[in-house]
Amino acid sequence: MKIDLISDTVTRPTNGMLDAMMRAKVGDDVFKSDPTVTMLQEKAAELFGMEDALFFPSGTMANQTAIKLHTQPGDKLFCDKWAHVYNYEGGGAAFNSGVACKLIDGDRGMFTAAQLRDISAGRADIHVPYSRLVCVENTTNKGGGACWDFEELKKIKQVCLDQNLDYHLDGARLFNALVVKNETPKQYGELFDTISICLSKGLGAPIGSILLGSKEHIAKALRIRKLFGGAMRQAGFLAAAGIYSLDNNINRLAEDHKKAKDIELVLNSLSYVKKVEPVETNIIIFYVKDYLNADNFIANMAKKNILLTPMGDGKIRIVTHLDFSEEMLEKLVYELKVFKE
Ligand SMILES: *Cc1c(COP(=O)(O)O)cnc(C)c1O
Repeated sequence: MKIDLISDTVTRPTNGMLDAMMRAKVGDDVFKSDPTVTMLQEKAAELFGMEDALFFPSGTMANQTAIKLHTQPGDKLFCDKWAHVYNYEGGGAAFNSGVACKLIDGDRGMFTAAQLRDISAGRADIHVPYSRLVCVENTTNKGGGACWDFEELKKIKQVCLDQNLDYHLDGARLFNALVVKNETPKQYGELFDTISICLSKGLGAPIGSILLGSKEHIAKALRIRKLFGGAMRQAGFLAAAGIYSLDNNINRLAEDHKKAKDIELVLNSLSYVKKVEPVETNIIIFYVKDYLNADNFIANMAKKNILLTPMGDGKIRIVTHLDFSEEMLEKLVYELKVFKE
């Protein structure tokens, strides 16, 4: 039994999802004639109470499209120092949009409105890159699946309004946050100019992300997606998996969170574990004691068919997901407990 905890992207479509994909009615979406893609986009827009939505092959492309549509070359965007848009999208903000990232020194991937207010004023000074966009990430990836306080997000919105900044949410794992905090997609739809969500993470679709925004923003996004090479033809087969994932796999995220909590408890009881970051959703980040090197630990677990990820600075990451069963949890707990230092 292989236990793959590298990411929640490792899931395979279930039979129910495959059936939905096989039955999808499709057309050429570049000519806007794929009814299943259209259905997914309308469904997502309605869910968030936003005007429009666009289907993307990846979350990276959805985020990069958002950055492109909000900015001009030479502009500046604000994000946390751990943000995915800065760290894990291949330098795309600079490459695709010619935009500089002003990194904010937040906590677990989250900064405060006060931190943003301090650095985002003073646009009249021609020496300074033009402040244009704020990107936040919920849940935070490198921050260990942490969830933002919605009140803080509202305060940041106020800074955006005061200083005429656009506001983008990288919501690759937003549904994890919604389930834990008992929040609704519409709350987020009201707050942000654009939102990206991933269907291929906790929701279990094989491919796909969605960008949400106003009609005007999505009209721009359509053009940029084409330019980035992301306009797809009979994508309805993939959109069908997305529809299925929205219908069936949101509430069950609570099971992933429960398993992550169980793992946190076990890790905290082990003498060779130095520290476990607080677990809020489906991501667990922990450190082993210095005499046990993180890479060695990961290699030893791999020999037991348990796959974990190094996140730099001695961090080890575990992500729970749809394909991580109770039986696998038991085996993982057993192997963690009997691990020889
Ligand atoms: C996974 C992820 C993305 C997008 O990733 P893709 O692999 O391109 O779909 C964006 N932001 C965050 C926070 C992520 O975790």
